[in-house]
Amino acid sequence: MSLLKIVLIFFFYVTASQHAFSQTTSYADQVRSLQESTGIKTANEYIDKTRDQILREWIAITEINAPSKQEQERAKYLEGLLRKYKLDIRYDSAGNLIATRKGTGAGPVTVFDAHMDTVFQPGLKIKATVRDGRVYAPGIGDDTRNIEALLATIRALDAASIKTKGDLIFLFTTDEEAGMTGAKQYTSDNKGKVDYYIALDGGYEGFTYAGIGINWYRHHFVGPGGHTRSRTPPYSATLPLARAISRIYELNVPSNPSSNLNIGMLGGSEVVNAKASDAWFTVDLRSTDNTVITDLEKKIADILQEEARRAGMVVKTEIISKSPSAVLPGNRDSRLVKIAEAVHRAMGFDPPIGNAGSNNSSAALLQGISSISTGAGPCSDSHALTENCEIEPLYKGIKKLVLLSVALAGLE
Ligand SMILES: [Zn+2]
Repeated sequence: MSLLKIVLIFFFYVTASQHAFSQTTSYADQVRSLQESTGIKTANEYIDKTRDQILREWIAITEINAPSKQEQERAKYLEGLLRKYKLDIRYDSAGNLIATRKGTGAGPVTVFDAHMDTVFQPGLKIKATVRDGRVYAPGIGDDTRNIEALLATIRALDAASIKTKGDLIFLFTTDEEAGMTGAKQYTSDNKGKVDYYIALDGGYEGFTYAGIGINWYRHHFVGPGGHTRSRTPPYSATLPLARAISRIYELNVPSNPSSNLNIGMLGGSEVVNAKASDAWFTVDLRSTDNTVITDLEKKIADILQEEARRAGMVVKTEIISKSPSAVLPGNRDSRLVKIAEAVHRAMGFDPPIGNAGSNNSSAALLQGISSISTGAGPCSDSHALTENCEIEPLYKGIKKLVLLSVALAGLE
């Protein structure tokens, strides 16, 4: 057999046996040739030319504090900026600001979401500072970096005269930090009208395609208490608490589906010489699969009851907060995830697919809308007054969004 023949047979074998792989390769090819197109190159050059404007605008938006449910001032400011471009602009009943860049009508509808709200108290004076290649200000990263990335994306598309087949919807949401009510309203209003939903929140080098369920509880053991010298067992309520914690940590917490369990806080008596009448601890239980959560909840409840009975006490459980996991069957193999994967690799981010996140993407997934979450730049100390971001990578993050938007909506 000639060498050529061997090579051909091998090639045939590889292509035939890796059909799924060839699909991925073709997305990779499509994205790479798009990346080499004049339109995308012009858009990227425009981003490089307007770096200072991007940084100034990013800071100006950050300095308008926008606590959850008090986003109006920031929304008005953004609306003023958006009015300069060719967009259809409206608000919905949740106060979300929605800007649509019309496509020619023959492609999928793609939503990019960045949330306007911050976690900082009303009235906080914010003044950004720039040093050593980083910009410091509360809220600069979460989620203002992504708001700015969307504004810069719109301008870059316009500067390169890029027309897409499908509509691009730039959605500036309210109240993400306090329950995602903005995204919940938008996705329930627009269910069936949206093909892809990209929540930009955190993230840079990768993306997630499922929402993790996060459940927080405070469990109490309640007993009679008493002085150190009192001869009553029951004991201090710390005893069943200690036994329960050690047993809970022996439970099997699966890594697939991705799940976590943490006991982060505990408390009891305020003084040394009293038995605790109420000893408590918290549980942070997470999983991408709600049946794992239900199963672990039940096992934890059984342990608590057994240990309470053993010590002659009772259990009280408070639910601090619960949000269900959001996994859309088939999303892992959807066009959105395949293209997002190809775009990240084309930008040099490899491997790009990360664990499940917890953000507005969950609201979309729970409505059955194909969704991912990613972000436009690396930042640290989110939700803290020391929050800061690297400046340089944001420009690359914006280029990633330009490429992603055109790859999804289709270049006309
Ligand atoms: Zn956020």
